[in-house]
Amino acid sequence: MISCTLAEVVAEMEAMYDPAWAEPWDAVGLVCGDPDQPVRKVLFAVDPVAVVVDEALDWGADLVVTHHPLYLRGTTSVAATTFKGRVVHRLIRGGGALHTAHTNADVADPGVSDALARAVGLTSELRPLQPSADDPRRGLGRVGRLPAPVPLREFALRAAAGLPRTAGPPRVAGDLERMVRTVAVCGGSGDSLLGTARAAGADVFLTADLRHHPASEHMEAADGPALIDAAHWATEWPWLADAARRLTSAMENKGITVEARVSDTVTDAWTATTTDLDPRAFEGWG
Ligand SMILES: [Zn+2]
Repeated sequence: MISCTLAEVVAEMEAMYDPAWAEPWDAVGLVCGDPDQPVRKVLFAVDPVAVVVDEALDWGADLVVTHHPLYLRGTTSVAATTFKGRVVHRLIRGGGALHTAHTNADVADPGVSDALARAVGLTSELRPLQPSADDPRRGLGRVGRLPAPVPLREFALRAAAGLPRTAGPPRVAGDLERMVRTVAVCGGSGDSLLGTARAAGADVFLTADLRHHPASEHMEAADGPALIDAAHWATEWPWLADAARRLTSAMENKGITVEARVSDTVTDAWTATTTDLDPRAFEGWG
């Protein structure tokens, strides 16, 4: 088996997800790792957190690719006195590099929201919800159509079934009997695109991290899409398999075998809802 260097894998990742496409506030690219080190195994995950590092080291990964950056703002220390410093230390000690593709993967074609759109059942051609100024084929979010109109109730159930399970199920705002066909999606926090989804003529907009006031005001306006608010991690996770597949086939075309694995570990911030908790566990309850 011909192995390759970290520099070669990073070059391929950056060909798929050009760092120049990232938002100015973002921090994408190589976080730690020696460009000359060999890479045979790559673990793809949403978050660069301790359980993902555990999984990477247990498997013997040479590289972890995450969607979320470890350090979004500058730091003056990578000491193992913080969880971020511990991530860096443990990876380096275990021979693992870390690379992140964040907003550059969001706007790529195909990108994070393409994978989300397919996961929730969109089979049509997709177009960016908010096209990038420099290239309208790329952009944030996606809009597409379902094969046939279905009640919001049915689409919500199908979308939930298409996404990986997390502690909290998706929440829905809107008339459950309303027929939906044109669907807008945005992986991650998409509430800045509420108005864009309305302007795009979407019947329903699926994203994560929707807050009360923007959602409430959107629904009061009455003529916009219904809303589905899913777990942040769940909306970005479908992209991992797509990125892994693209990387391995691009390397394969160069005669290089890279083994890629997608982490199934749920790293959404929310780990339970009170409906999961049994009040009978408390003495004297009710
Ligand atoms: Zn995200």
